[in-house]
Amino acid sequence: MRNFRALLFFLVLTAVAFLSVHFKKADKITKPKKVIFLIGDGMGLAQISGAMSFYDGVNAFERFKVIGFSKTSSDDNYVTDSGAGATVFSIGKKTFNGAIGVDKDSIAHENIFEMMKKKNAATGVVVTSSVTHATPACFYAHVSSRKSEFDIAEFLLKEKCDIAIGGGMKFFVSRNDKRNLFDELKAKGYSIFSDTSLPFQNINASKLIYTLSWDGMKKAQEGRSGYLKNASLLAMKNLDKNPEGYFLMVEGSQIDWGGHANDFDYMKSELIDFNEAINVALDYAIKDGNTLVVVTADHETGGLSLIENKSNKKTFKSNYSTGGHSGIMVPVFAFGPGSEEFQGIYENTAIHDKFKQLLNLK
Ligand code: MG
Ligand code: ZN
Repeated sequence: MRNFRALLFFLVLTAVAFLSVHFKKADKITKPKKVIFLIGDGMGLAQISGAMSFYDGVNAFERFKVIGFSKTSSDDNYVTDSGAGATVFSIGKKTFNGAIGVDKDSIAHENIFEMMKKKNAATGVVVTSSVTHATPACFYAHVSSRKSEFDIAEFLLKEKCDIAIGGGMKFFVSRNDKRNLFDELKAKGYSIFSDTSLPFQNINASKLIYTLSWDGMKKAQEGRSGYLKNASLLAMKNLDKNPEGYFLMVEGSQIDWGGHANDFDYMKSELIDFNEAINVALDYAIKDGNTLVVVTADHETGGLSLIENKSNKKTFKSNYSTGGHSGIMVPVFAFGPGSEEFQGIYENTAIHDKFKQLLNLK
């Protein structure tokens, strides 16, 4: 009898040991090595519903199975701005509107890019604004005002962001301090590009700054169309050279600007352009198997609603309630290893926490 009990005890121990090893393995499989984080600035459900109803191609949003909602308020305002809205993603703390990578007391905290760099992984931003604009700035800079774009540009010299593609040349070369940051970045091993006629597929550099305009970028309506998708592909190809993985932030910056202008067609063309970038990220993630794709917004812009169009009941009238942002929750779409973590309703801080946990960042 005693032998039998001892044998039983031994068997149970063996089973527990086997299962714990097995589950650890399974746990590992659900963690991504790379993250492509796409932010549609000012993109709420009305923007997605309205813009995509005019689109005949592949609706990227409908390719996701995991969907959640993010509560967007900042520390000092129920209605956030894009500085506080992206700071929360990068450092995981709610802060005051206008802040870039600092908490409510203006104290800088380590951001996701800095954590990725500690494990020698790669990082990048691709945007349709200047690369020093609030949303991308939050991922590599720490300043108390989003307006300090000349100071924000200097943060790229800290080498926490390997690839930056967008506008904003003037913040590097037309400075009161007479510094030429492009020369300083070259000395640190960055390749610098600004020739807009250069075919993206010819560019091979693991550290690159590509500014395609003096200040902000053109609108999609002015012929910028296709840029965000192609620039994202360029970044993905070059970041992929790093065996430790990467974190790439892609922003549809001007979805927000169309909202501020209460210009539905402007917003629509920017969102459709953003949709193309999401599609290439998803195509890549499906092939790769190690990539988590997350799409969300920092906040909604314009208080947009789609109301009845009495002259054509098959379509709608766009109805804006503000020229600013609104405080409504925004959707979160996730695909790939770890995507199930993004189900449910949570504060925007949770998005940072989930990235940190899934990427084993410390
Ligand atoms: Mg933005
Ligand atoms: Zn805005």
